[in-house]
Parts: sequence; C-alpha cells; structure tokens
Amino acid sequence: MTIASGLVAACRKSGRLRSNCTVIIGRENPMPHLPVNFCSNCGAKVAYRIPPGDSIPRHLCDQCGTIHYRNPLLVIGSIPETDERVLLCRRAIEPRLGFWTLPAGFMELGETTAQGAIRETLEEANARIELDEVFTMLSVPHVDQVHLYYRAKLLDLDFSPGAESLEVALFHERDIPWNELAFRTVSATLRLYYADRRAGAYKFHADVIRLAG
Ligand code: ZN
Repeated sequence: MTIASGLVAACRKSGRLRSNCTVIIGRENPMPHLPVNFCSNCGAKVAYRIPPGDSIPRHLCDQCGTIHYRNPLLVIGSIPETDERVLLCRRAIEPRLGFWTLPAGFMELGETTAQGAIRETLEEANARIELDEVFTMLSVPHVDQVHLYYRAKLLDLDFSPGAESLEVALFHERDIPWNELAFRTVSATLRLYYADRRAGAYKFHADVIRLAG
C-alpha cells in the first residue's frame, strides 16, 4: 500500500473523503481532510468547536488553550518554455504516477513564491529557469489548495528527471499529451497559455477548479 492509498483508506474510514477525491491527494495534499485528534503542543485530546470570537469551528485544546488553525496550501509551479516548446515531467510518484505535469509542488516555509517556482523546477526536472510573470492563480477549494503558475524561460537544455520524475521532455503544442496530464490545474494552465499565445498577449488568469461531477 502506498502512502497515498493508505491515506485514502484512512480518510474513507473516517468518512471525511468523498470517493472521487483520490486523484488529487498525495503530494498535492498529503493530509486531506484528516482529523486533528491530539494537541501537537501538549498531547491532550482536542475538541472541535467554534472558539470565542471566531465564526468557524476549529480544533482546540482545552488543556493548554492552543487553537490548531488549518488553512489552504499553496502549490507553485512554472511553465518552462524554449523555442515554442514547454517542458513537462512524467510523475514517478503517486498520485497520478506516470502522468505528465508542469513542474510544481508545495511552497516551503521561508521562501517566496518565485523561489518556490525555481526550486520545484530544479528539483523535478534539474532545469534552470528565468521567471516571467505569474500566469495562473487557480483556487481548488475542494482540496483546500491554491495553485500558482509562473511563465518562465528555460535557460539551457541540460535538464533531466529529478527524483520525483520518470522522464522530462519538451513538447510542442500539437504534441501535448492532453489525456495524460496529471492534474486539472495543469491542463487549465496549458490551455490558457496556448490561447493567450494565439491571441498574441499573455494575461494573468485567476480562476476556480471545482470538484468534477
Ligand atoms: Zn494542548
């Protein structure tokens, strides 16, 4: 059992995972909807209720008073481009192992969004980029995430698969494996990218990805 499938099983057991959520958990959301049972500060069992002065139920510890806030995560990636080709990575990890993605991953503590995009591209594709503007900001509320993609110039062709990639390759638009893309934020970003390119100007796009079905 992979870590991801174990989490799915745990989530289903807890009744907190809708059945069609499986494609979007894992690296993009390693702890989806898992309950907080114990206080990470003192170890006591936590309650779940609206704290005084708040309007949303929180996990709170009656023993030490800690409120365990949980907020959306930011996934940051790039659209590395050279000679009208875009670099994609084929995933070596679940979820969506074997599917293609733009280089992207969770923003780390202490870094900027730009640093995150450059780091993820280096980690997943051993590729060096120069960032252009932020291109898409896609809210994915059913998994409590926001995905942010930068346009970017690939600085050289000396790329190779990182630890989380099976292969890395450059694609012309006509060759993009649309049916083998890992995530809807990736396909949405690529469709907007090519639409803007045909229109002759790249714009910033903010949109929402809803739960399918
Ligand atoms: Zn506590």
